[in-house]
Amino acid sequence: MPDRPPRQPRAEPREVVELRQLKAAQPELASAVDMQIELVDMQRRVQGRVPLPWIQVDDAWLRAQQGAGRPLVRFRDIPLDWSDFRLTFRQTADILQRHEALERGDHTTIVRLGRDGNTLEPLVVGWYNASSGVEDTPDAQARTPPGAPASLEQVLVLAIRPFLARCAEALTQRSDLSAWSHGHCPVCGWEPDFAVITPSAERRLICGRCTAQWAFAPLTCPFCANDDRALITSFATRDGRYRVYACDVCRRYLKAYDGRSASRPVMVSVDSIATLPLDAAAMQRGYVG
Ligand SMILES: [Zn+2]
Ligand SMILES: [Zn+2]
Repeated sequence: MPDRPPRQPRAEPREVVELRQLKAAQPELASAVDMQIELVDMQRRVQGRVPLPWIQVDDAWLRAQQGAGRPLVRFRDIPLDWSDFRLTFRQTADILQRHEALERGDHTTIVRLGRDGNTLEPLVVGWYNASSGVEDTPDAQARTPPGAPASLEQVLVLAIRPFLARCAEALTQRSDLSAWSHGHCPVCGWEPDFAVITPSAERRLICGRCTAQWAFAPLTCPFCANDDRALITSFATRDGRYRVYACDVCRRYLKAYDGRSASRPVMVSVDSIATLPLDAAAMQRGYVG
């Protein structure tokens, strides 16, 4: 048998390469980087096997949803295979626990919830409906069951991301989201957790759950709609790469990647870790994330 050439190692995704460079440059971020690499790896693997959904939206419904400030993805539109979701949910909890981002007791409770399909499925559906606002839900409906650990929501957000991100991909290709002027996500209704300033100085918000992007007024607070410039505090890192917008009304803040003179596009998985020192600076000034 002829000698087979040694198999080439698969090229690492750009985000992972950037994360490794970040760790080398700022060793104090090493543990956050290590956890992020595991999450990115897992989410890419899952997302690669999730089909691009065909989401039926007619124009009248789309306009009505947008007019009412309601996002577009109903739970039934998400291409979610339950056994794949359960696996992703479990692996997410394990990664967080391994890196001490999840307490042992919470991990045990969350893993137990995930194992029982009869508990997990209605919980995920109820959580999505209550947190997206895509359909009418009673106002008082809790997002997670009483007594569930607060960290459950963090695990849910990360575990559903690969499935929802495919919806965001499908919708941003096919629908016009430019009329959307709200601070929450037009695809899944969640809050932005990062932003990017484009070369034309437009600010685009990035959803913390499905990673969709949408344009939003640069100096308006997406959390409380305060648009009084005198009540928005903005500061940048010394190299000008990142910026914080903090609201003096609701005291929340949002970080942004300044793409105006950047050498690469925004990568939230990298930039959110690179800006951990900015979180500390914002919190020191009394703002909350
Ligand atoms: Zn979203
Ligand atoms: Zn605000």
